Amino acid sequence: MTVTRRTSKNVLLDTALSNFYGAADEMGLEDGLVEILSRPERAISVSLPVVMDDGSTRVFEGYRVQHSTALGPAKGGFRYHPDVDIEECEALGSLMTWKCSLAGIPYGGGKGGVSCDPLELSTSERERMTRTFAARISPIIGDWIDIPAPDVNTGAPEMVWFMDTISKMRGRLEPGVVTGKPISIWGSRGRTAATGVGVAICVKELLESEKVDIKGARVIIQGFGNVGTYNARSLVKYGAKIVGIADMTGGYHVPGGIDIERAFEHVTNHPKKLLEGYTQPGLEKLSAEDILLVDAEVLSPCALEGAINAKNAGRVRAKYIVEGANGPVTPDADAILSDKGILLVPDFLANSGGVIGSYFEWVQNQNGFFWTEDEYNHRLIPIMTDNFYRVWNYSKAHEVKMRRAAFLVAIKRVADAVKMRGIFL
Ligand code: NAD
Repeated sequence: MTVTRRTSKNVLLDTALSNFYGAADEMGLEDGLVEILSRPERAISVSLPVVMDDGSTRVFEGYRVQHSTALGPAKGGFRYHPDVDIEECEALGSLMTWKCSLAGIPYGGGKGGVSCDPLELSTSERERMTRTFAARISPIIGDWIDIPAPDVNTGAPEMVWFMDTISKMRGRLEPGVVTGKPISIWGSRGRTAATGVGVAICVKELLESEKVDIKGARVIIQGFGNVGTYNARSLVKYGAKIVGIADMTGGYHVPGGIDIERAFEHVTNHPKKLLEGYTQPGLEKLSAEDILLVDAEVLSPCALEGAINAKNAGRVRAKYIVEGANGPVTPDADAILSDKGILLVPDFLANSGGVIGSYFEWVQNQNGFFWTEDEYNHRLIPIMTDNFYRVWNYSKAHEVKMRRAAFLVAIKRVADAVKMRGIFL
């Protein structure tokens, strides 16, 4: 039997499918499993009538796609953006399947969203839209079915409205139905820092494996938001020297090392959470792009997708790249960096502290018992470290790049689960 190879006009889905088929071929995955894993288990569209503040009614389109539940309930955020459609949700849902699998947590993958321009909506319109979305996808949502989370343009308020709506509809509190809730409403201590802490663990283990002393190792971090700041703060605790940081206001280079706690305080107090106006002795102001080209041991892009691309990859001087953002290195840049001998830790390993953190929130919700931040980190560190070495060892044993190794390890775990559980009927 020849497997029909799916393609898509949606670039994200087409890339996700071709990456999957490429890895499936390389690992010799049997045809039936290729067929199963190249399709989502379930994909639904819902229409969302919302009464606007001016009294008119608008109908929005919403989606929820469950790519796989072989390893556990589907897990993945929902986003509010004009580009959201069912194919984008399918692509992002499949990436969640691989990310959760690699992370070693008992979840499958899913994604959802509503096609809308969130900037056009008032807070009360957002609330009504979120509650209608929760109600319409409620039949396929639950703490053992599918657990949404924040994504682009959704955050703690949307998670609380979502949980409250499901709880009221079911007549019982359903805290574990979404993650990313505020600490005061069944959220988790430690979650805010988890992604950045996880990226820093990957930097530390990578340097250790390469016999580079982290004490004094020079690191550049692009993006000084949630992921970038906690990555930087953790690395400083490990003894690294952060010589460059950047946000949308530009690059900040200090060869002797940036005072990260001071920079963190600066962005925390800035009305737009930016580095704008940050200064310290020895600081040289660069553009946000040029910071990527500064000489250092490690470069950790934690801002945008496509930050390192065919135009600038050839000029990157760092020896190691650890991806904090999703997709910060384009595929053609990947090949250039590889030719230069730069070693790269891929996004869905390096930034998986976020989804592991969501899992911890859900575990606490199941028990109604909350951990301290120390307990949380105490559990996060060994999981991230194990995951790093699982990929590192596979990459060495099979002589493949870390990105390919991560993908192969992730697909194998899901394929094994599908096989063991068997096909029903
Ligand atoms: P954030 O909005 O908190 O921070 C983004 C940072 O990038 C800001 O400092 C912003 O100023 C900066 N930035 C924007 N444009 C820039 C430019 N042109 N040049 C340099 N810097 C620029 O976002 P975040 O939560 O830290 O997420 C960053 C990345 O990590 C995204 O790709 C996100 O998908 C990914 N990610 C985040 C999490 C999480 O838990 N927050 C988990 C997994 C992956």
